[in-house]
Amino acid sequence: MDVSFQLLGSGAVRTNPDRMGPAQIVKVGGRVLMFDCGRNAGTQLAKAGILPHTVDRLIYTHLHFDHTADSVYFIFVGWVYARKNVLKIWGPKGTKNYVEKLVRPPHEVDIASRLGHDKPEFGLDPEVADIVPGSVFLKEDGYQVSAMQIPHGNILALAYKVETDDGKKIVVCGDGQPTPKFVEWTKGADLVAIECSGTKEFLATQPWGSWHATPPEIAKYGNDARVKRLVTKHFVMEDIAGDKNAAEKMSATIRETYKGEVHTGRDLLEIKL
Ligand SMILES: [Zn+2]
Ligand SMILES: [Zn+2]
Repeated sequence: MDVSFQLLGSGAVRTNPDRMGPAQIVKVGGRVLMFDCGRNAGTQLAKAGILPHTVDRLIYTHLHFDHTADSVYFIFVGWVYARKNVLKIWGPKGTKNYVEKLVRPPHEVDIASRLGHDKPEFGLDPEVADIVPGSVFLKEDGYQVSAMQIPHGNILALAYKVETDDGKKIVVCGDGQPTPKFVEWTKGADLVAIECSGTKEFLATQPWGSWHATPPEIAKYGNDARVKRLVTKHFVMEDIAGDKNAAEKMSATIRETYKGEVHTGRDLLEIKL
């Protein structure tokens, strides 16, 4: 089965014009799975040559706004383009409540206006489910997706594993730190997309720094789990410390000990497996 990973946005919270917000897609066979929907994800999809109404699987890693910020645009523009299938959304506990409040209540005026020119209602309301960590929540067309909780400060965060029937394994993390259980769960993965927010020294200066993985921790994780390739992303340090080379320097630190490939994330980076 043809499988590929594409990073839509390699940035994080702040308005870095060179890096859009967290979002990525995994293509499995003919299906596009979208993980997170951060700043400008809809536009990034277009740059990747994908129209929004053709993506009907959206999965949130957690509900920090940098990972969800473009949801309104993505959901509504998909409706405008006329979805053929209902958009299905999954995420940690709280996702159903989040999406329900996001779609109809603030947009009553817009929705009434569009329905007023005979726009069909179909395709507007997503079908949303909160995921129970540890479960396979999606199984179809020769692949399955399961979720595992990872520590990320005081918020519930999930990582996802896409496995194909012919043995390919891609893991998409949001924010958070690898644990021994996570090592076991991701063993032998072909690709793991992992956050690399800042150096150990930088994170130590931030009040939220302990919520993120440091480059040496990422390298150790990659070796322990025998991951074939890591894709780094979510470069907070670049935005706060202003060091444009921070992402490459962190990759160099990871390569000092990690035995697999390291791909420094950039917007629209695509890796075919
Ligand atoms: Zn984040
Ligand atoms: Zn976060």
